[in-house]
Amino acid sequence: MNQSYDRKLKTDLESLRSAGTHKVLRHITTPMEATVHMEEAGDAVVLSSNNYLGLADDPKVVAAGIDGLKRFGAGTASVRFICGTFSIHRDLEDEIASFLGTERALTYVSCWNANTGLIPTIAVEGTAIVSDELNHASIIDGCRMATQAQRLRYRHADMADLESKLAALPPDMPKFIITDGVFSMEGDLAKLPEIVALAKRYNGVTIVDDSHGTGVMGTTGRGTIEHHGLTGHIDIITGTLGKALGGAAGGFVAGSAALIDTLIQKSRPMLFSNALPATVASSALAAIRELESNPGLLAKQRQNIKYFRAGLASLGFKPLDGESAIIPIIVGETAFAIKMSDMLLKEGVFVTGFGFPVVPEGAARIRVQMSSALEQSHLDKALAAFKKVGRELGLIK
Ligand SMILES: *Cc1c(COP(=O)(O)O)cnc(C)c1O
Repeated sequence: MNQSYDRKLKTDLESLRSAGTHKVLRHITTPMEATVHMEEAGDAVVLSSNNYLGLADDPKVVAAGIDGLKRFGAGTASVRFICGTFSIHRDLEDEIASFLGTERALTYVSCWNANTGLIPTIAVEGTAIVSDELNHASIIDGCRMATQAQRLRYRHADMADLESKLAALPPDMPKFIITDGVFSMEGDLAKLPEIVALAKRYNGVTIVDDSHGTGVMGTTGRGTIEHHGLTGHIDIITGTLGKALGGAAGGFVAGSAALIDTLIQKSRPMLFSNALPATVASSALAAIRELESNPGLLAKQRQNIKYFRAGLASLGFKPLDGESAIIPIIVGETAFAIKMSDMLLKEGVFVTGFGFPVVPEGAARIRVQMSSALEQSHLDKALAAFKKVGRELGLIK
């Protein structure tokens, strides 16, 4: 390694350490269940996984993954259009499309890839892309790659600002309006009914990244679009298979047949990068089927959200309001959030603190996520830890 450059890296890392914002990875030695064992911290109740439905180690999901590996081996050693698509990819894509009510779907190795594959492919010269300022980093990067399109950002969930941006563009120009379905740091939902109405008025094409909504929101877990009664009214849906739907990896774009065929022709990760491993495609397919056949998973997750929110409120915490499984508690400075997270871990509760630059300066937070994997005993243990740590830090009386 170039010595002077390596020294510069070390200096930069040192300043993160002295600011108290240096992140460390913790190593888990067990599957992602309600509790895990960590090499560095022992056993802990998990409140910071996106394993919303507890499917990450569901026996059917695991068995399907093993079956996928046995049937197809590790992979095709090729990109998809050359000789890299297995029948399991098509089966999974058909299932996603039918689950979400779109004509077709296309998988990528992650939703990061799906967003950065989709956006620059469609947001070409003569189009505009209008993006919520709190959208996920993968959307931001996708927009950055769309160098030929007009790129605009509207204030978070501010429909008047969105409308003024749309109204200032030529009426006939295709305008991609892109938003998270559930905002990952706030836990709030995009105002999809208003967005759909604005899209109608201004020749908008709606894109919703429902990574935190798919499998979680809506009566049957089909996401924020179902939650708002808008099934069939959103043009393009992206999402991840790495959260509620099995938790391994993988992402998708769902939309019209013409859109998906366009991505197969032109989307760069599709043309130049390998497909989702067959074992993951197979386990994700099993996860969707399990969600469809076991409505108890969603019912339990919603019961847990209610119980934990009520418990936090009775202790004197004031989490941000919301309908999703994300329960953020704003604590102030980044270093404070990290300290609180460390103290909770010592009490056997794994919940991550988020600070700048992931969230604005001064709005650092502890982000709790509710899963149907958690039993009431886990929630009670977590609430006891929040009570102790909250008092020690002077957050509650
Ligand atoms: C988590 C998340 C992603 C990234 O998903 P991966 O499949 O892990 O790449 C993209 N968009 C949103 C809104 C997310 O919450």
